Amino acid sequence: VLSVVLTVYNEAENLTELYDRISRVMSDLDQDYEIIFVDDGSVDKSPEILEGFCQKNPKVKTINLSRNFGQHAAVAAGFTHCQGDWVIWMDADLQDLPEEIPKLLREAEKGHDIVYGIRENRADPLLKRLTASIFFWLFRRISGHSLPKGLSTFRVLSRRVIEAFNELPERSRFTAGLIAWLGFSYSCVPIRHAPRTRGQSKYDHLKLFRLSLDALISFSDYPLKLSSKVGVFLAFLSLLMALYTMYRKLIYGFDITGYATLVTSLFFLCGLQLFFLGVVGEYISRIFLNAQGRPIYIVKKMTNF
Ligand code: UDP
Ligand code: MG
Repeated sequence: VLSVVLTVYNEAENLTELYDRISRVMSDLDQDYEIIFVDDGSVDKSPEILEGFCQKNPKVKTINLSRNFGQHAAVAAGFTHCQGDWVIWMDADLQDLPEEIPKLLREAEKGHDIVYGIRENRADPLLKRLTASIFFWLFRRISGHSLPKGLSTFRVLSRRVIEAFNELPERSRFTAGLIAWLGFSYSCVPIRHAPRTRGQSKYDHLKLFRLSLDALISFSDYPLKLSSKVGVFLAFLSLLMALYTMYRKLIYGFDITGYATLVTSLFFLCGLQLFFLGVVGEYISRIFLNAQGRPIYIVKKMTNF
């Protein structure tokens, strides 16, 4: 069985063409398949359209979440309820082309657990491409996990990977990082990427920034450790300053200058302390959120399962 998992958030304009193209590609493959749409609390016509597909075709299944939980929570729902020996994950906005599915599957059959679709020409705005590459560079350095360049949502995962993924309990869900953390062998296949022609991107820069920060913090305790390094460095610096002050007093006698130095360093050090307090806060808030143990998403309705 092959599963196609798609997360949908207000994609009404794209769904009909998406469904047509995916089902055409999948029925040509000559294998049993299911198409799982996870509706992430859409407020447009998406849920009705998906309902229509389900009535027409029993191979289409939908999971409706009770509200918008975010793409990564939604895909977790899809992965939990899919049956496939191979699971294809793609975006529902037609930026990932359904026609590329066979190419990814062929690569997977060569014996890889994970096959990533690599966007050679990412059809997104320049600023988004730029910030994404900065993030991925930072993520690789900080987490030590290798994520291939040009990584997109579009990928094929084996049943083993899906089972392992479904065991991950955490609330901060940067899916690409979690899959990299699992290990397994992967391979990359270049894919075409289309610009978004209908509907809007669901990610603005602020949201992407928050997600990036969340991903970095949940994959590394480096920021936490940085404070002790900075602390040692500043303590050492203050020792040098003390020696210098003593030297000046001995040579020139007593002088009360250096108001500016005093005030700026006061503000600087206060700022630094608050900053690292904030860093500690970020980690504590993650402990808090995980300790609450709330589920990652709430299912409202499941159709055709
Ligand atoms: N998406 C989702 N929940 C969200 C935001 C997005 O399920 O809260 C889905 C969206 O419908 C699309 C995919 O995630 O299928 C990627 O979103 P989008 O195309 O807006 O991201 P971009 O391509 O701009 O990075
Ligand atoms: Mg998109």
